[in-house]
Amino acid sequence: MCREGCPVYEVLRFETVAARGRYMLIRGLLEQRYGINETVRKRAYQCMLCGYCLYRCATQTTDAFIALRADVVEAGFTIPEIDRMVRSLVHYGNPFFQEKPKPQLAPRSGSVLFFVGCTYAYIAPKDAQKAATLLLRIGYPIFQRRDEPCCGQVLHLYGYLRDQAAFEERLAAWLSDTGADLIITACPGCYSALKRLEERGQAPHTLHLVEAVLEAQPRFHPLKLRVTWHDPCHLVRMHRMPELPRQLLRQIPSLRFEEMPRHGYNARCCGGPALFYDPELMLEVADRRLSEATSLAVRYLVTSCPLCEYALRKANRILNKRRVILPVQDLLLRALA
Ligand code: SF4
Repeated sequence: MCREGCPVYEVLRFETVAARGRYMLIRGLLEQRYGINETVRKRAYQCMLCGYCLYRCATQTTDAFIALRADVVEAGFTIPEIDRMVRSLVHYGNPFFQEKPKPQLAPRSGSVLFFVGCTYAYIAPKDAQKAATLLLRIGYPIFQRRDEPCCGQVLHLYGYLRDQAAFEERLAAWLSDTGADLIITACPGCYSALKRLEERGQAPHTLHLVEAVLEAQPRFHPLKLRVTWHDPCHLVRMHRMPELPRQLLRQIPSLRFEEMPRHGYNARCCGGPALFYDPELMLEVADRRLSEATSLAVRYLVTSCPLCEYALRKANRILNKRRVILPVQDLLLRALA
C-alpha cells in the first residue's frame, strides 16, 4: 500500500498526509464540503512531493498535490517562510536573499552551458565548483554566466504557479541569449525545470551530471572505498533514473557498493523539501533515511542533489549519525585517471 512508504505518513501517521487521504481532502474541496482553511494549508505542505506516489499510487501523478498548493496560495493561506523565499526570488532572483550574482565557477565562454542553480551557487559553491571541474576534466567545453536566473522550480513545487510562468518566460529568453546547444546541471530540481522547458522547445537538450559523465565514458582509477547511493527523488522517480547512477559507480574499479534497504524507485526521501518551512518534519524524515545508511558498513553516502546533500548533512550533524555525505562529483574527481 502506498501509504506505508510515504515518508511523511511514516512520521505523522495521519491518513490525510498520504496519497489516498490527500485525494479525499481534495475531493472534499471540489465538492465544496469545506473551503481552504488552516488544516488544508497544513496538509498541503506536509508532503515532500517525493513522487513515491508516482511509483506506488494508481494515479501515477503528484500534479493534484501541486494544484492543491496553487489553490491554497490563491486563497491567501500561504506559509510565511515560503512567502519570504518567493519575495527573495522576485527581488534578488534567488530564494536565499543573496544580493551578489552567482560565483564564477567555469569559463565565461564555451558551447555547453553549465547551469549551476541557486542551491549549489549560494549554499554549496565548493561542491558546485567540483562539478564544473569534473565536467571540464572529462572534456565538456562548458561555460557559465554569473547572471544565471533561478530556474523557478521552487515556485512550481510550492504552488506559486503564476510567478512560475513569468520566471520560465524570463529563463527561456536568457537561455536563448546564451547560445548554448547543450545544458548540463548537477541539480535535479533545476534539471526538472529545464526539462519542462526543453519539452516545450524553449531550452536546448539538458543532461544531468550523472548522464553527462556516463556519456563521456571517462576512465577511472581504482578506489578502495565502500559507499552507498541515495537516490534524489527527482532523478529516480520524476525522471526514472534508478540505473544510471549505479551504472556510473560500477565503472570505478575496486569501489564497493551497498544498497540501503530502500533504494531505486522505492528510495526514501531525504526530507529536504520541508527544510525551509518545517525543520522538525525534515529532521524526522532525514533521520529515517540516515538510519538506513548507518545499518551498512559504508564510509560514504553518495548522492547528486544539492538539497539532499544539505538536508542530510544538516540532519547528520544534529543527530550525530557519523555518516559522510559525498556529492558524486567529489567521488568521481577522486577516481579520475
Ligand atoms: S509525494 Fe511523497 S510525501 Fe507526498 S504524499 Fe506522495 S509519498 Fe507522501
